Amino acid sequence: MSTIELKRITKRFGSFMAVRDVDLSVAAGEVVCLLGPSGCGKTTTLRMIAGLEALTAGEVMIAGRTMNGLPPDKRDIAMVFQFYALYPALTVAQNLAFPLHVERLPAAELKRRIDRAAAILHLDGVLDRLPGQIAEGEKQRVAVARAIIRTPNCFLFDEPLSRLDVELRQSMRGQIKEVLQGLTKATVIVTHDQLEALTMADRVAIMRDGVIEQIGSPHEVFARPVNTFVAGFIGTPQMNLIAAELRGVEGGRATLGLGPDSIRLEVDPAAARLPAARTTIGIRPRALAPVDAAAADTFLAKAELIEPMGAETLVHARGPTGQDLRVVLPRQRRVTVGETLHLRCDPRQTHIFDEAGKAVRS
Ligand code: ATP
Repeated sequence: MSTIELKRITKRFGSFMAVRDVDLSVAAGEVVCLLGPSGCGKTTTLRMIAGLEALTAGEVMIAGRTMNGLPPDKRDIAMVFQFYALYPALTVAQNLAFPLHVERLPAAELKRRIDRAAAILHLDGVLDRLPGQIAEGEKQRVAVARAIIRTPNCFLFDEPLSRLDVELRQSMRGQIKEVLQGLTKATVIVTHDQLEALTMADRVAIMRDGVIEQIGSPHEVFARPVNTFVAGFIGTPQMNLIAAELRGVEGGRATLGLGPDSIRLEVDPAAARLPAARTTIGIRPRALAPVDAAAADTFLAKAELIEPMGAETLVHARGPTGQDLRVVLPRQRRVTVGETLHLRCDPRQTHIFDEAGKAVRS
């Protein structure tokens, strides 16, 4: 089985812990994206899987075999890097054939493999050209084709689309996903682009400071973030994380103090277990809506900046304790700068976090 298993892998550079006790299992046919801010340890994790970086502790297993101590070329992996180097003096077909030269295939089989990879990545028309004679997106596809031309145990991608422009990236995301779905190999993709991760991955592992904070399906990490870090990291515009004082929970409703104001909000029943204390309420910008009049479940905010985004408008508003709030409204709902808004939150999309930032859920 083409699986990848990481068992408590750790990497220390001097006294700096870049990756700490990371456990991860990637099933055959599964795509896992490592996502996180710059410096969180994504690339180091990938490099340890590839054998480009020695482990300080832990074990990497590929297809059920330990890889510890094995050099990259003995791991039967295919990697696609951000800076995919194609041989400039070789045609696209020759570039594709390159990883196969050790296999000494008969000419007919070599041609069959090249044609198949070229067909999958729509490169049929450029096989005789040199890399200098094809577009950037085509070069990227050659890099992917070169990876899938062999049948390795797993695929590792390091920021594969970061050099492409926005439009090309969008189409390549779909194309690579389609290619990966057709293969039955474990794939790990490193990216700092959440859209890339959410669209390409079966599961997303969100990293911070060398550890995985949460791993789950794209929907899970968006809808059920385990802490304020994941909540703030996933989703655009960013979730509003509002400091509030929990004054009590009764009948599924919490009374939350926001400076001088207080609101009553339907919350997860588990919130009843929280001591009266500081909490954070998490509300997505699309889960806030202005209503006509103040009510027990609304709070006041003042619109400060209006950003049209096509079908929607992003309103930056100042909340009751001076915090910045982001509210996304349909374009038809007009708001003017300086307007006072009574905002109501959708209770089904309200998250509550304890003092340490951990999600409170039943
Ligand atoms: P980015 O998205 O910017 O590439 P990343 O999440 O991939 O970030 P890594 O490249 O894995 O992060 O680096 C994790 C941490 O380890 C960073 O703080 C980095 O400076 C540090 N680091 C990486 N390689 C080395 C090295 N060879 N020597 C010392 N520190 C290193």
